[in-house]
Amino acid sequence: MPITVPGFDRIGEENAFAVLARAVELSEQGMDVINLGIGQPDFPTPERIVEAAVKAMRDGHHGYTPATGIQPLREAVSADLDRRFSVDVNPDQVLIVPGGKVTIFAAILMFGEPGAEILYPDPGFPIYRSMIEFTGARPVPVPIREGNGFAFDAEETLSLVTPTTRLIIVNSPANPCGGVTPLAEVDRLVAGLANHPNAALLSDEIYDQMLYDGERHVTMLSYPEIRDRLILLNGWSKTYAMTGWRLGYSVWPLPLLDMARKLAVNVWSCVNAPAQWAALEALTGPQDEIASMVAEFDARRKLVIDLLNDLPGVSCIVPKGAFYAFPNIAGTGWKARSLASALLENAGVAVIGGPDFGVLGEGYIRVSYANSRENIRRAADRMREFLERGPDASRESNASSG
Ligand code: PLP
Repeated sequence: MPITVPGFDRIGEENAFAVLARAVELSEQGMDVINLGIGQPDFPTPERIVEAAVKAMRDGHHGYTPATGIQPLREAVSADLDRRFSVDVNPDQVLIVPGGKVTIFAAILMFGEPGAEILYPDPGFPIYRSMIEFTGARPVPVPIREGNGFAFDAEETLSLVTPTTRLIIVNSPANPCGGVTPLAEVDRLVAGLANHPNAALLSDEIYDQMLYDGERHVTMLSYPEIRDRLILLNGWSKTYAMTGWRLGYSVWPLPLLDMARKLAVNVWSCVNAPAQWAALEALTGPQDEIASMVAEFDARRKLVIDLLNDLPGVSCIVPKGAFYAFPNIAGTGWKARSLASALLENAGVAVIGGPDFGVLGEGYIRVSYANSRENIRRAADRMREFLERGPDASRESNASSG
């Protein structure tokens, strides 16, 4: 009898990592691959932050830290939230974690169990659904629609809440669609939650500084009426180009914080100490790098939208946040995953099929514009050439499969 591990057959994947691995493999075989698949800034971490980590190592920060994180960093997170949003967050409610994903894991583990329901965005970050299913809870997708600018619809979200809903996950600015939920919609959601006092909220705000067209971020922390059941997810990965450092933070209601702290003690003990000192420098030093990075993303965003809308069978609304475009490819005749895979294998362009973010992602692909303008132009040329080649035998068979 082979060993079986009940539950682990329910754990999912993040296909962006598989696409990255395949892109690297093809590059190693000599193919010139342009990667518009991965969701990470293509900029290096600012020098001052790198130097702070080096200094921390030289200064002897080699041991464990408190499981919740070093105190100056928790205070800096609280000060940063106050500076940006005028919200009062007690540093004791801040938990430093090894990456934004860890907050998703902790929150879903707390509320997910057989019989519970958890609402999550579809299309959305694939780890939400994967973790919900892992816990045995029922995943309830909240549709994120192109016609709604890829923002969540408060009324529709509330209509899906039942007495067994334990957690509602919201994400704005959003991966994979780049949608930003307007203030009025967030207001409506929070007002409606008064009727569902047993449902907790996980607000994933990891892209909160990646906003364009004068959009301003609305943090869920600014609603005192839900603070006793709100878990805020944020971190350094996207804002400071630090995805590989594995750093994030969450803000918890006090009773839940102690549970999260115990989870930390049991699983990761604490976040890498030099990385925490680097995170402190990130928050307390000059913030100009963020503005330059976002300005460059904005230029690329405009470029990529124009180029995508010029491709046969493709249309793309203008995303207002994050660094993703989510073009509608229904007019190409391709199924999304088949198109993504054919583009990688035949045209050397890595993108992700929409269904990798949920069933409602069919008919779309995710294009990350965290790549140079020159590469975006080259990728669009290759996509055009590929799509203009028109129907062929492989396309017909691809279109009817998967
Ligand atoms: N939440 C969303 C919406 C994301 O897109 C990502 C990363 O892509 C994360 C969380 C996880 O971030 P981290 O790399 O810090 O774990």
